[in-house]
Amino acid sequence: MAEYKGVMVHAEAAEGKLAGIATELLGCGRKLADELGEELSAVLTGGEVGNLAQEAIAYGADRVYVVEDKLLEDYRTDAYVAVMEKAVKQASPRVLLLGQTATGRDLAPRLAFRLETTATMDCIELEIDPETKRLLQTKPVYGGNARAIFSGEAAPQIATVRAKAMSPLERDASRQGEVVAIVAGLDPSAIRTRVLEKVSEEVEGVRLEAAEAVVSGGRGIGSAEGFQQLEALAKLLKGAVGASRPPCDNGWVPDLMQVGLTGKIVAPDLYIAVALSGSSQHMAGCSGCKNIVAINKDAEANIFREARFGVVGDWKKVLPAFTEKVREMVEG
Ligand SMILES: Cc1cc2nc3c(=O)[nH]c(=O)nc-3n(C[C@H](O)[C@H](O)[C@H](O)COP(=O)(O)OP(=O)(O)OC[C@H]3O[C@@H](n4cnc5c(N)ncnc54)[C@H](O)[C@@H]3O)c2cc1C
Repeated sequence: MAEYKGVMVHAEAAEGKLAGIATELLGCGRKLADELGEELSAVLTGGEVGNLAQEAIAYGADRVYVVEDKLLEDYRTDAYVAVMEKAVKQASPRVLLLGQTATGRDLAPRLAFRLETTATMDCIELEIDPETKRLLQTKPVYGGNARAIFSGEAAPQIATVRAKAMSPLERDASRQGEVVAIVAGLDPSAIRTRVLEKVSEEVEGVRLEAAEAVVSGGRGIGSAEGFQQLEALAKLLKGAVGASRPPCDNGWVPDLMQVGLTGKIVAPDLYIAVALSGSSQHMAGCSGCKNIVAINKDAEANIFREARFGVVGDWKKVLPAFTEKVREMVEG
């Protein structure tokens, strides 16, 4: 392979648009590329994605590689690994970023194996070491109790990045860039899986992972009815309701609402944690939250160590007053 240079981003698309994670990776990739004084490229893969190339440029890419093929319409490991390997070998980036999404989680380690390099999963901070030009990759470890910084000698350095950990750039439609088509050249017989059916997750209101405000309840909520009060607050904040594991295990709320190590990862501006203790397994899903507000009757609860603001008290008294105040502010 030629000399490794520049930063490359796998830009995922969803419903004919760049996915949120793609714009976040482009924002972060732009910063890293500027620190290196090198180029930022994006790879678009799919059935029909060429129309998104200009959008990727508007969000920061200097060059966009487009790999379009009917066989790439749905994510299938064999096909995506093959075309990504091709794109990476053509561009020889020193850094390759993917989203910590279902696609990125499947793709990154397999690509790393094919390219005889390493992948660091679930990063929340990335920077370039100015002396070595190596990527320093920060990720939560030990169930979110600590952060570790990884780096390595192999190239390209591959990292997946947690949703909402990075910010997109302001969209600039006047930005110029180059679009390069890559022929997928896929052999259908080498793709060992077929998509038989697609079932969309039905969500009322805002999706938990995408919400800017999340109101989460814990064991202390005590019942499904209790969660209706959390719903009311979330609705006022145009946000979503989450939960720690016990309310899901107890059947008060669906499992899809669980936040944490074995649940969803959220990164809203505002995370209101009600009657949950803030276990390390729960906090593993919240490390990207910008502002945590805790309501708990136990002043010693760990959540107060994580929270920016906290109220010590019974949520049944605190939450209605809090919700009323928010209602006054929102509805004027
Ligand atoms: C492998 C593994 C994976 C796990 N994954 C997850 C995960 O993804 N997500 C997750 O959440 N957990 C996970 N857990 C479980 C985790 O260890 C904790 O048991 C769980 O997070 C505790 O939930 P909680 O804070 O709601 O309950 P508790 O720890 O029991 O806390 C309840 C809190 O409510 C407060 N409280 C009670 N009544 C009131 C009241 N009236 N007003 C105000 N406050 C009140 C109490 O003071 C207490 O702090 C996992 C565990 C394991 C072993």
